[in-house]
Amino acid sequence: MRPQVIIIGRPNVGKSTLFNRLVGKKLALVDDQPGVTRDRRFGDASLLGLEFTIVDTAGWEDDDPSSLPGRMRQQTEASLEGADVALFVVDARAGITPLDEEIGRYLRGHDVPVILLANKAEGRAGDHGLFEAFSLGFGDPVGVSAEHGEGMGDLFEALLPHIGEKQDDEDEASDEEVEYDPKAVLKLAVVGRPNAGKSTLINRFLGEDRLLTGPEAGITRDSIAIDWSWTDPKDGEVRPIRLIDTAGMRKKAQVVDKLERLSVADARRAIDFAEVVVLLLDATRGLEHQDLKIASMVLEEGRALIIAINKWDVAEDASGLFNGVRQALDDGLAQVRGVPLVAVSARTGKGLDTLLGAAFSLRDAWSRRVPTAALNRWFDDALAANPPPAPGGKRIKLRYITQAKTRPPGFVLFGTRLDMLPESYRRYLVNGIRRELGFDAVPIRLTLRSPK
Ligand code: GDP
Ligand code: GDP
Repeated sequence: MRPQVIIIGRPNVGKSTLFNRLVGKKLALVDDQPGVTRDRRFGDASLLGLEFTIVDTAGWEDDDPSSLPGRMRQQTEASLEGADVALFVVDARAGITPLDEEIGRYLRGHDVPVILLANKAEGRAGDHGLFEAFSLGFGDPVGVSAEHGEGMGDLFEALLPHIGEKQDDEDEASDEEVEYDPKAVLKLAVVGRPNAGKSTLINRFLGEDRLLTGPEAGITRDSIAIDWSWTDPKDGEVRPIRLIDTAGMRKKAQVVDKLERLSVADARRAIDFAEVVVLLLDATRGLEHQDLKIASMVLEEGRALIIAINKWDVAEDASGLFNGVRQALDDGLAQVRGVPLVAVSARTGKGLDTLLGAAFSLRDAWSRRVPTAALNRWFDDALAANPPPAPGGKRIKLRYITQAKTRPPGFVLFGTRLDMLPESYRRYLVNGIRRELGFDAVPIRLTLRSPK
């Protein structure tokens, strides 16, 4: 069971912003789907390796305090019941309002531990609000900036005593990795918008010998796995591949809107299953917004991503199209630069060997482990070339880095004052790992840890 953390606060203090920061990009998708109410939202959050469920409550409307005991209160009550800890958010810039005080009284009537967060505390403008917040009687407020990601280390420290021991040992378990075998069956999924050519591509791959293996763990009844093998023309090696065939590929819904949603649901299922995800684009349509969303989702989930532009046989201005898509990917996918881009035709078979070759090498990179010594040699050089900044004259100390996991690669950086580390510096390190340690085009994670 993941521990539950609930966010409470009056409107506009930054609850959603905090929720989004803790949950990451995945959420944007959830939000776009109709039927998701703002009353209560759940998300899988992670903060410096702490994993928990975050619940955002809304409804403390200050324009109508008489509605407080209403529906909102029921929602909040329900959430508080299951919560391990509550994050009581106030606005450090606006200071403490009567409604904040009322929420404070309300929370005191429950036995859920409360962490007081003074949000919007970036810069100095929040100083007086931080001071004022103390008067709420929940101890020292933790100053954070949900928008700028500041204070997350302090939030981590504050959460740890409440939910730290509830962390299941999943992390440890995944550390006992089986040695990576590059010859093992490649789990590959093809996703993309309706009519991009997914079914055509899979049928092209499989030819006559369509072998259905039936459901396996992790695949819902809506999806089936297909085992198949590909002969690599480069070395004649026969390489096993397991494809996922999702319901959306087989069953065509009537309504376009339904199809759109189906393709996202398919993508989610495929992502759960796959090591490498091929996002198929339609050359006659180019890269569309939905494609970028699916691409982001794949990367956020830590899967290796390849983009294939299909229907190359009918592409107009092929090189202009290719460069345009390349550019749009580099602009639109901040997480990973240089995602492999391959032109294919499911109809003629063009580019398919290149695509599959790229899939295998990308999986190799995704599964790589860099020895700690080599990693820290690189790290020392990276710090020497560009030392971390000293905000407010105090130096951020970066001590060492280790690769905690693979598939996707995850790194943990140890040091002090890490909550002050600017995002730009973090990006500098991540890009360095990617470029110089052989993790090109691979989604990697960097977690910051300060010793207690
Ligand atoms: P909610 O109503 O509590 O969910 O608040 P929102 O998350 O919608 O945020 C309300 C407003 O505060 C938005 O305009 C945010 O951009 C802004 N905001 C949120 N967090 C911060 C922060 O850390 N600093 C600043 N300056 N503004 C923030
Ligand atoms: P799906 O909805 O993504 O599974 O797409 P389909 O495989 O059903 O393909 C949609 C349409 O695009 C069909 O009419 C296919 O014949 C066509 N199509 C698929 N791949 C290609 C291709 O490489 N070239 C051309 N010209 N048409 C293609």
